[in-house]
Amino acid sequence: MLSKEHRQAKKVYRTLIADLPKNELEKALLKIKQITKPSVKKKPLQLTNKVKITPTEEQKQVLWVLSENCRLIHYFANKERKEWWSKNQHLPKKKRDKENKPSYNKQSKQLPKLKEQYPRYKQNYSKTLQDTLRQLEADYKSFHALRKNGDKNARPPGFKGKHYFTTMHYNQKGFKIAGNKITFTHFYPAKKAEKVDLTFEMQGKLTFENKKVKQVTIYQVHKTKEFYLSIIYEENTPEYFDNGIYQTIDLGLMNIVAAVNSHEGKTITIKNKRVEKYWQPKIEEIQSKRDHCKKYSNRWHRYNDKMWKMIRKQANQRKDFQHKVSKKIVENTKANTIIIGDLNVKAMSESKKNDKKNDKSRHRNMQSSGSIGRFAGFLTYKAEKAGKKVIRISERGTTKRCCYCMQKKNRKLSERTINCDCGLELDRDVSGTVNIMQRFLALLALSQKRLVVRQRLLKEFREKFFSDTQPNVKRKFLHSELGGLATKSN
Ligand SMILES: [Zn+2]
Repeated sequence: MLSKEHRQAKKVYRTLIADLPKNELEKALLKIKQITKPSVKKKPLQLTNKVKITPTEEQKQVLWVLSENCRLIHYFANKERKEWWSKNQHLPKKKRDKENKPSYNKQSKQLPKLKEQYPRYKQNYSKTLQDTLRQLEADYKSFHALRKNGDKNARPPGFKGKHYFTTMHYNQKGFKIAGNKITFTHFYPAKKAEKVDLTFEMQGKLTFENKKVKQVTIYQVHKTKEFYLSIIYEENTPEYFDNGIYQTIDLGLMNIVAAVNSHEGKTITIKNKRVEKYWQPKIEEIQSKRDHCKKYSNRWHRYNDKMWKMIRKQANQRKDFQHKVSKKIVENTKANTIIIGDLNVKAMSESKKNDKKNDKSRHRNMQSSGSIGRFAGFLTYKAEKAGKKVIRISERGTTKRCCYCMQKKNRKLSERTINCDCGLELDRDVSGTVNIMQRFLALLALSQKRLVVRQRLLKEFREKFFSDTQPNVKRKFLHSELGGLATKSN
């Protein structure tokens, strides 16, 4: 005879797997394979970091000269492409003049000749010009892809404005990093004695000296006129292995995370910092002041700048908080495998719900699911850096079911606590997280051939989680005829 808990675990196992449509189940099982059989070949992790630099006036002048050269190259190359396109776009594909179609290869081959003709292009480190052309080709590729997908409104890439700093890419070469200083190669002006050194102090905590830097991009934020570097570098990460400890996390808006681990059944929840509560009224006030001014007048610009400054501050605070929380989670969990709900499903169900609502709330919803997505991204790369792994499985139905007895019930978003007929009283997000854990353990069992181990992990987890040592779980059933879990697990 099976014990009551064992029977209950079996029911949970069956229900949480049966809730998944076939395609989601297959997808989830593929993900589980990454744990049991991690890929042998390991690529180094590619990371991007944004670093502020503060050029002197002299350096700014040089940067603008170099950027203008890139802009001109972009202009002529794009003109050539546009002309070809306007001649050929109405022709059927087979009749288009392929021979004279501009390409990166053809255009970059013209660079040496162009430099002889117009010495100004010799001022740039040559890769920056090549990369301008490569970037243009990439932009055309995405334009053609859009057209191919039937987007008739897609327009070919435009020209760059003279007053906008043209972003410059240094690929692998053309820069030197020593300590927190970076030096870029350039040849302006031609006289060596007058040459301005393009060495910048990289502001920020990270050092790149011992890292394999793949690309450095110099760009300017037009609104603030501040200069930044975007640095792409590789980092070797510790090897991942399955240590048998798992952490599931539900990502949400009220609670940025609700998490439970498999080996102790311990939960944590971290409330989201609602930065917009502070900023939104202030932003709206400035916006309304702005809208009462004559458009593009001095006053209008003043308010507009002020408004954007606030919006940026708000975004930065949100981002900082997400960085902190994701770092804390990765550092503190004993698990090597972190499981989160698949966000696509979440976003879809949210948007369906809001179809009838006004644009504003839909917009806010899009924003928030974007914010959850970004948080998941932070979590994923921080985990990978630490030799851990984040996998996503479908969270379909996990918030509707009571995590103890599996009873299904639709609840309003405002109901923050689950009060189930079975006697369980639990925070809704925690219950959702527990269900993600139970589903994960069920899937893990399903992926294993031996029947014996199938429900063991799940049963063990339930014994830990529903025991009376967990402070946040109220179980009236412990003292009723449903009880016994706690006493038997001891
Ligand atoms: Zn229940």
